[in-house]
Amino acid sequence: MAETALSPLRHLPSVDRVLRQPDVAILIGKYGRAETTRAVREALAALRDEMKPGAVFDDAAISASVLAYLEARAEPRLKPLFNLTGTVLHTNLGRAVLAEEAIKAATVAMRNAVSLEFDLATGKRGERDDHVRALICELTGAEDATLVNNNAAAVLLALNTLAQGREAVVSRGELIEIGGAFRMPEIMARAGARLREVGTTNRTHPRDYADAMSPETGLILKVHTSNYRIEGFTAEVGARDLATLARQHNVPFVNDLGSGTLADLSRFGLRKEPTVREAVDEGADLITFSGDKLLGGPQAGFIVGRKDLIAAINRNPMKRALRVDKMRLAACEATLRLYRDPDRLAQRLPTMRFLARSMEDVRKQAIRLAPVLAAILEGSAVVEAASCSSQIGSGALPLDTIPSFGLVMRPKGGGRAVEALSAAFRRLPWPVIGRVAEGALVFDLRCLEDEGLFRENITSLRFEASS
Ligand SMILES: *Cc1c(COP(=O)(O)O)cnc(C)c1O
Repeated sequence: MAETALSPLRHLPSVDRVLRQPDVAILIGKYGRAETTRAVREALAALRDEMKPGAVFDDAAISASVLAYLEARAEPRLKPLFNLTGTVLHTNLGRAVLAEEAIKAATVAMRNAVSLEFDLATGKRGERDDHVRALICELTGAEDATLVNNNAAAVLLALNTLAQGREAVVSRGELIEIGGAFRMPEIMARAGARLREVGTTNRTHPRDYADAMSPETGLILKVHTSNYRIEGFTAEVGARDLATLARQHNVPFVNDLGSGTLADLSRFGLRKEPTVREAVDEGADLITFSGDKLLGGPQAGFIVGRKDLIAAINRNPMKRALRVDKMRLAACEATLRLYRDPDRLAQRLPTMRFLARSMEDVRKQAIRLAPVLAAILEGSAVVEAASCSSQIGSGALPLDTIPSFGLVMRPKGGGRAVEALSAAFRRLPWPVIGRVAEGALVFDLRCLEDEGLFRENITSLRFEASS
């Protein structure tokens, strides 16, 4: 059968021909031959699918479609964005934003060979923990320290090292779940420790712990109830008393602080969260805390405390599987160093800077930006500057909020329109993430620092309210 003159395929150029087009050849230089060829195939296939009989082809349209495909594939999946949720340490948005000092240190470590496990004084093998050990001990008053992948790993490793095949005694009021898969009873099971629950959900007394002590006891664990609070008729046993009890029974006392801060937050007008130094003073044998929560560093888990216990942890083969790499170690060291100068912490450490930012400063920014957004959303949404509440996030002072200011956007068309508006902001070159509350999209401006970038970014917003 002869092909008819109308067969549209006859008009489609070959892949090779498109690759020879000068504007496509340039793309090969930028994106590589394999990727560009793939893009040409995709572009031609898409054209073939939507082609109408008698259609004519335009080289420029084909190369534009090739370029669009290449650009879309070159976009990173892990995108930087504006966190205007009002949750300063948002786990889903990557928690702490690092200090410039930490970024520089990590960059140097990435670009170069480093003295990771090499002792420059002796020329012999060194230990990767050595680079931060002295600094952590200086800042916390602890005897020794080690560093692992995150605080979940720190807890797992401490339990496995000290209580494998034995009992870990915990209050029923502290059997926390921290989002996703971190549930204390399950971590304990995986660590090979048997959970020995004591007390009740709302009240645990010293005698509950004392009654649970036996030759089977591996350790006493206290867990900071970071993401909830039990109020009303409650009782818990303080760290100091648990330390005493543990000493009497010759078992270690481990205190999982969760966020665990190195600075006194009341300096920044926040309520006090237990500091690591206080936990050390209260007599815990080991303390675990996160690197990317209030500390404001990269993801990491710190274990500080008694030298002999840290040595046992370092001998555990699991330590090798949970250790941190040179980039994070460099970023940790640089972040910790900032704590030697508490007066400038609120300038240099983004987490502290966000938390310490005055309501007045945020309010002024909201008043500056409200008309800008109102102009962009003219006719589709009403925009106003209004007060709102930020929170720390990542399980620090869960019920405390920080007075803040933001932009409240009410699109015409109610609930669906709010979702559509949120989606439009998520499609921006730098997605802007807010929160939806009471039929409005709210941007809490506490964490907005690069206002210039924000202004430029929102000019590409495409949103039409459905009438
Ligand atoms: C956050 C938290 C953890 C887990 O820490 P990651 O650094 O997220 O692994 C464990 N325990 C407590 C009490 C926490 O608040």
